[in-house]
Amino acid sequence: MRRLDNQVALVTGGARGIGKEIALALAGLGAKLAVNYNRSAEAADALAEQIKQLGSECLAVQADVSRSDQARGLVGTVIEHYGRLDVLVNNAGITRDKSLKSLTDEDWEAVIHTNLNSVFYTTSAVCPKMMEQGHGRIINISSFVGQSGNFGQSNYAASKGGMIAFTKSAALELAKYNITVNAVAPGFTSTEMLAMVPEAIQEKLLAKIPLRRFGEPKEIAQAVVFLASEGGYITGQQININGGIYM
Ligand code: NDP
Repeated sequence: MRRLDNQVALVTGGARGIGKEIALALAGLGAKLAVNYNRSAEAADALAEQIKQLGSECLAVQADVSRSDQARGLVGTVIEHYGRLDVLVNNAGITRDKSLKSLTDEDWEAVIHTNLNSVFYTTSAVCPKMMEQGHGRIINISSFVGQSGNFGQSNYAASKGGMIAFTKSAALELAKYNITVNAVAPGFTSTEMLAMVPEAIQEKLLAKIPLRRFGEPKEIAQAVVFLASEGGYITGQQININGGIYM
């Protein structure tokens, strides 16, 4: 894959799980990294150290991306530090799984603010710089449930479906500036998010996956790196990496 030397990449929620593997894979191609975290300060510091040992630069930045001021401040901090921003990966996400009869306004809002509103905040904040550069790659980590829906995940599925619609609309608006906007939609992937699902339910999920295993964070990261590196003519698309659970 084409190297990303001299390019700067920001991964939201990048200290652990899928985001961590994305950050490592981008650094492996030579990109300078900014890793955002909200609560995982120690993990973010450890990752920054690991990336520096790989020979790349890394800045760890605390911000709660569900808040407009903090998400926009995050983008500003990265641009101020590196002078540019080429790759934005909107990865931060949460679940609050409940069936509709017990889902509260707070459950709904927390998921929509974190998973969807954050994508608008960071994307709109990064646009002026990417337009000025005449180059940008925005990659949104969605989910297959944004297309299929899922029992007990009306808030999460709505946030991920919203991300897909946002991705296509932003791709249309930003194409003339050579900014591509795409989504990567994982299926069930082995991280702490999946570990929160009770084991009995995990067994049932496995049985529904044609490839009969959960995805690995590295498999998601490879698609992100492909879009960042070789995806110059791909925009407004969604890459599904889900073991065949949704086709
Ligand atoms: P994890 O629960 O393992 O990690 C979630 C990440 O999001 C953490 O780094 C966390 O940061 C960050 N985050 C959460 N809230 C905020 C916030 N307000 N501000 C900044 N960062 C925040 O999840 P995964 O790695 O599994 O998920 C990554 C993405 O992939 C998510 O968008 C998720 O929806 C999506 N996805 C995951 C699937 C799976 O099966 N694992 C399936 C489909 C999609 P911190 O720890 O610092 O708070």
